[in-house]
Amino acid sequence: MNPKQQLQEIICQTYGETIATCTGEQLYHGLLTLCRDRMSQTPVIEGKKKVYYISMEFLIGKLLINNLINLGIYKEIRDLLEENGKCLAEIEEYEPEPSLGNGGLGRLAACFLDSIATLGLPGDGIGLNYHFGLFKQVFQDNLQTQEKNEWQEKDGWLTKTDTTFEISMGDKKVKAVLYDISVIGYKNGLNKLHLFDIASVDEEFVKEGITFDKSAVEKNLTLFLYPDDSDEAGNLLRIYQEYFLVSCGARLILKEMKEKGYSLHKLHEHAVVQINDTHPTMVIPELIRLLTLEEGFSLEEAIDVVEKTCAYTNHTILAEALEKWPLKYLERVTPQLIPIIRVLDKKVREKYSDAKVQIIDKDDRVHMAHLDIHYGFSVNGVAAIHTEILKHSELKHFYNLYPEKFNNKTNGITFRRWLLSCNRELTDFLTETIGPKFRQDEDELLRLLDKKEDPAVLARLAGIKQTKKNQLAAYIRKKEGITIPTEAIYDIQIKRLHEYKRQQMNALYIIHKYLEIKGGNKPKTPLVFIFGAKAAPAYVIAKDIIHLILVLSKLINEDEEVNPYMKVVMVENYNVTYAEKLIPACDLSEQISLASKEASGTGNMKFMLNGAVTIGTRDGANVEIRELVGDDNIYIFGEDSQAVINHYASKDYIPKQYYDNSFIIKRAVDFIVGEKMLSIGKREHLERLYQELLNKDWFMTLLDFVDYVRVKEQAFADYENKDKWRRMMLTNIAKAGYFSSDRTIAEYNADIWKLK
Ligand SMILES: *Cc1c(COP(=O)(O)O)cnc(C)c1O
Repeated sequence: MNPKQQLQEIICQTYGETIATCTGEQLYHGLLTLCRDRMSQTPVIEGKKKVYYISMEFLIGKLLINNLINLGIYKEIRDLLEENGKCLAEIEEYEPEPSLGNGGLGRLAACFLDSIATLGLPGDGIGLNYHFGLFKQVFQDNLQTQEKNEWQEKDGWLTKTDTTFEISMGDKKVKAVLYDISVIGYKNGLNKLHLFDIASVDEEFVKEGITFDKSAVEKNLTLFLYPDDSDEAGNLLRIYQEYFLVSCGARLILKEMKEKGYSLHKLHEHAVVQINDTHPTMVIPELIRLLTLEEGFSLEEAIDVVEKTCAYTNHTILAEALEKWPLKYLERVTPQLIPIIRVLDKKVREKYSDAKVQIIDKDDRVHMAHLDIHYGFSVNGVAAIHTEILKHSELKHFYNLYPEKFNNKTNGITFRRWLLSCNRELTDFLTETIGPKFRQDEDELLRLLDKKEDPAVLARLAGIKQTKKNQLAAYIRKKEGITIPTEAIYDIQIKRLHEYKRQQMNALYIIHKYLEIKGGNKPKTPLVFIFGAKAAPAYVIAKDIIHLILVLSKLINEDEEVNPYMKVVMVENYNVTYAEKLIPACDLSEQISLASKEASGTGNMKFMLNGAVTIGTRDGANVEIRELVGDDNIYIFGEDSQAVINHYASKDYIPKQYYDNSFIIKRAVDFIVGEKMLSIGKREHLERLYQELLNKDWFMTLLDFVDYVRVKEQAFADYENKDKWRRMMLTNIAKAGYFSSDRTIAEYNADIWKLK
């Protein structure tokens, strides 16, 4: 049956209505039924070897439109709804967004699942089923507060399976239950996202906001992603979650191997476990434990097989993010792993005397990354510069031991979500202009370069950008109650809030601009500055930066002398759904992390693909974007990573010196604690931030500020040259093909997984 008829039938049989007469909610559930039925008839991807992508986070976003696209029925359904006066974008509003990730790392895992299935590779995700996800961000008195994010539906994408395991953790025993979400490739077969839960989970356990008794693991284990880990109970809960994930994952993998009739002695010929950052590291000792204890392997053989099965992806060089768990915590949560971790550590000590490469350090902390590197066969970074920093700086002692293990896999994004689904106008235009092949072959986008001098093409691109700005302005008016001009430059910074990402530098620019406008220096085209960011609940300075931006937004948007020329918006509860609306509307993409600190970034790629021009530092994948588009199509500023690494090594960065030596720095920083700000904001927060910038500024905001202002002014001036700007847009879109996660996954497969 064709999909149109099938949907009509579903609506008629379930509700006794037609597409034209049913409610939006009925239509949403009808579409769910349609997709699930079609997916159940899609063949599962099979092969003699399978990848298990194990991750604490999968930031998958809403699934309805993407599943329609990947099923190949999007256009037909869209047309059917439009013929009946319905709009798919409005139907999508009924779908809650699963909140199973923090940011880039979890979003990457989601893009990878899409690409693995799209390339027809057998590969499943393994993660946890957090009932309330990360948290829902709510602004109150210009401050971030956190609420639970309820996303699970009675009738949704998640299905309960019959698979259960008994998991012992110290003196606690829990029953694990497996839930699945189907992952369909673009015009291809089916894989799974496996999400483990506990049978005894208790949603009533949450009191106010996101606070709950962290010690009652049998009830709270799968309530939230990333519990506040500023205290011991939070740390322990995080370790319980990690061990629960890997123990379930390891059991599932071994179960599948046995069901397929494979010998576990050849595990590595049939399974590869990709460990997404250090959070699932304990899968290594857990697999060894299960193979020796339950499968009769000798310890030597178990270690050998597991080592050939596991591969590790490093996502960060921020010291505080590299997990080092105190042995005494592990002893409480997972005593059964301690003897194995000790053996693994001992073998390393027998081979290498260098204390820097040991697994258990002198303070009895277990370095999870070290475990991964010694006992995995591959270590990869996520952008060229990041991998080089790992090899020659952060992990150089390991690179010297195992140069053959190290490899780079520059991150990517799935074009199904970040182009086909979020920007149908651009997708349709590209199809018209260069043909439909770019949907499966990202290099086809290069053909757009032939049209670089075609005024009609450039005008159409500008028209699409305008349409997306109009749509975004309407959405922001509805959601935030703020009106922004549509004939303006949209400057957007959306990502987790972290000092290294330097939202505070953008905020200082906004202060600078405000004061310039007050002084009569008005921009030709109005400027709209948009932020979206969640701060970790216990990250004090990050929350102060949110306060700064929200107070600036109030102050500027209400200042009638200035608001015709600039506006500032911080959107509430930034998530994938919001990203899909913001990114297509952006002119200038803010990628301004301190060089060497952003491993790759993927937001930068999404913006580029949608025709935004990047202003950024030579960090992460910005470096590769610059190589692709050339200096004329990107705005680069600031010190490079080597200079930054040298500053840290010689401890010679003193922010006060920059403040004293620059009028514009001093003026902007002082403004934070000036009368105007204090009349709206809270002294405690603003003063703490002021002191931080002046006396610490660990991520060197003031180092790059003057150059940032200079280059940003240049970008805004260039925007006035319409032809120039439109050619930059076109070049960025055309060169974005490299950042398809299909390319990334093809490389993982060729170099690491070797599935077929
Ligand atoms: C892509 C994405 C990110 C990652 O953004 P970066 O700029 O690379 O840090 C974070 N959150 C969401 C919702 C995203 O879609």
